[in-house]
Amino acid sequence: MELHKSTSHALLEKLKNKEISSQDILKDLASRISKEDGKVKAYVRPSEKINPPELKGVPVLVKDNICTDGYNTECCSKILSGFKPPYDATVIKKIKDAGHSFLGLKANMDEFAFGSSTENSCFGPTHNPWDLNCVPGGSSGGSAAAVAADEAIWALGSDTGGSIRQPAAFCGVVGLKPTYGRVSRFGLIAFASSLDQIGPLTKDVRDCALLTNIISGYDANDSTSINTPVPDYTKALVNNAKGIKVGIPKEYFVEGLDPEVKKIIEEAINKLKNLGAQFKEVSLPHSEYAVPVYYIIATAEASSNLARFDGVQYGLRAKAEGLIEMYKKTRRLGFGDEAKRRILLGTFALSHGYYDAYYLRALKVRKLIKQDFDNVFKDFDCIITPTSPTPAFKIGEKVDDPLKMYLSDIYTISVNLAGIPAISIPCGLTKKGLPVGLQIMSKHFNEEMLFRLAYTYEQNTEWHKMKPKL
Ligand code: GLN
Repeated sequence: MELHKSTSHALLEKLKNKEISSQDILKDLASRISKEDGKVKAYVRPSEKINPPELKGVPVLVKDNICTDGYNTECCSKILSGFKPPYDATVIKKIKDAGHSFLGLKANMDEFAFGSSTENSCFGPTHNPWDLNCVPGGSSGGSAAAVAADEAIWALGSDTGGSIRQPAAFCGVVGLKPTYGRVSRFGLIAFASSLDQIGPLTKDVRDCALLTNIISGYDANDSTSINTPVPDYTKALVNNAKGIKVGIPKEYFVEGLDPEVKKIIEEAINKLKNLGAQFKEVSLPHSEYAVPVYYIIATAEASSNLARFDGVQYGLRAKAEGLIEMYKKTRRLGFGDEAKRRILLGTFALSHGYYDAYYLRALKVRKLIKQDFDNVFKDFDCIITPTSPTPAFKIGEKVDDPLKMYLSDIYTISVNLAGIPAISIPCGLTKKGLPVGLQIMSKHFNEEMLFRLAYTYEQNTEWHKMKPKL
């Protein structure tokens, strides 16, 4: 039985009917991983064996920045090498409470989630299963590639500026960034605390709704989690787009958007039109400031969050004379180039004399970006855009040009700045056979609208059934 090819909801049905056991799923996944992961490299620390703490349900693959009790959690950074948290993140606890287990192996990512290609991992890059010479996107590239390559059934990633949705688009899977506050961040090793959110990467929209059901909800351990009821998101899976009002932001269809991606997105929009959704052009006038604002706020928060990694409490400790030398040497050896770049940028933006000019100003513009969305959502149920301006690019193509790399998030980061939810679903393949993702955004806590529209699109197209040839 090729269980690894299956969705979670199909496996859950088989488990319920006692046709298979969780052990069967695990065995099948293990052989798939040993067969394919030498090429894809979605998993880190491959010398560790698959070994869930307690096997039940359909095991979930988890990104290396989510704490798992007693299992290495290193954010793919040398500075956290050997770190085993003494507790589970709230999402892991919830997965266990819902009758599932964590896979026992972790997914590759850009170091501390800094990046859009998974090339900034201390373990080396993950390869895109659709074209092994291409990046899988990032920073949750390991989670996305594993799900696309059928090396995992479903997975968790984290999204600070696009890190779930962009790799989902590049790998042809479904990825959701929930509303800020919907999912507890307790046990997620922080990158930028006002932007980070954990979310699912799955093979179809139903699995995405199921995993969102499991991980959502208030948590007293996360002061930014919000105490509003969690609806059953599977109830939103209705094949009906009639009357849904969709805005198309004109600022997102300009220079820089790959013509092939543009064409595929336009076809998807036409499809949804035929299914009864109503489209109209809208404006998000402050969009052009999203990238600079994000790279001030995100690096400022990162520089502060990463101050705790100094060789004293976690992971790596360099041998040196005296405490200050030990701090310096540990951080010099432990952080990769991109982490250092962000710590420097963020520390500068927060420094005396520059704080008002950079950080404070960025916060003000962030507010304007949020207001742009609030205005559109007064009249529209959702907004549709491409997830990324290009399909997956070649490994090595942008890694030496940080500004180029930063621009690959141009369509995803406003969502984090505004705190709203957004989903990416597969909507086509380029001539070279690379997947393209459609992004749907909605107002705070309206994940149901995303699921409804995404499900309707999926039920009336075949893209989610396409598999890479490995
Ligand atoms: N690519 C963006 C960055 O480099 C977003 C990363 C993320 O969402 N974690 O910051």
